[in-house]
Amino acid sequence: MELLSATDIKNRGKQISCRQCGICCTKGGAALHGEDLFLLQQGLIPRQDLITIRKGELAYNPITDKVQPTKAEIVKLRGTGREWTCCYYDTLAKGCSIYEKRPLACRALKCWDPEESLGLVETDLLSRLDILGEDEQLQELVKAHNSICPLPDFASLSQILQQETVRTIAELETLINRDLSFRNKAVEDSGVVFKEELFLLGRPLFQLLHAFDLRVFQEGDCLRLQWGGNT
Ligand code: SF4
Ligand code: SF4
Repeated sequence: MELLSATDIKNRGKQISCRQCGICCTKGGAALHGEDLFLLQQGLIPRQDLITIRKGELAYNPITDKVQPTKAEIVKLRGTGREWTCCYYDTLAKGCSIYEKRPLACRALKCWDPEESLGLVETDLLSRLDILGEDEQLQELVKAHNSICPLPDFASLSQILQQETVRTIAELETLINRDLSFRNKAVEDSGVVFKEELFLLGRPLFQLLHAFDLRVFQEGDCLRLQWGGNT
């Protein structure tokens, strides 16, 4: 349940109620807020249906109408397969399969009148640690991943790639391989991480680099990067 872009909203004309077209649900699952915690605690939404956008990852911000680094971690409903369409959107019935229990952001969304939704952006967001509660083992795993596998500074990455290509690519290769090793070990050690990897660790770093025209390829046991025309 992503907010529609400024252009989408402008095209809504004189709409005054939900047409149940489902477009908002195909643009991505809802971000979760404090009020939604009970949905997880009661098992109505399992953690394996969540994905984490780590603080600093690029995401669309409907307030600025730009894709930019997030100021806080966002935990949201995951997409379906490789699509962004919310995993709870029933494409055949064209509706929400958890309508009565849908999160706050879904209930607040009125594409023709976005004020209420905009008020929720980056406000009272649920984090992984909030959701994990007293599970110290998984809390430590999340903290260790954040510390051992930090994200690069996405705000300046394009510029740094232009200025110091070789050094930056070498550093990024170190980071993507470290991130992958961390994940492989965590998944090997725990069935929980296997099922909840996207929630616990977010998306692998190498996937996030596609936005910077960085192509990933395998060489031996390692991932390597190729940037634009750089060989
Ligand atoms: S939970 Fe339901 S209403 Fe919310 S984004 Fe998913 S399908 Fe849409
Ligand atoms: S809120 Fe808007 S985009 Fe979402 S289902 Fe209703 S009419 Fe469609």
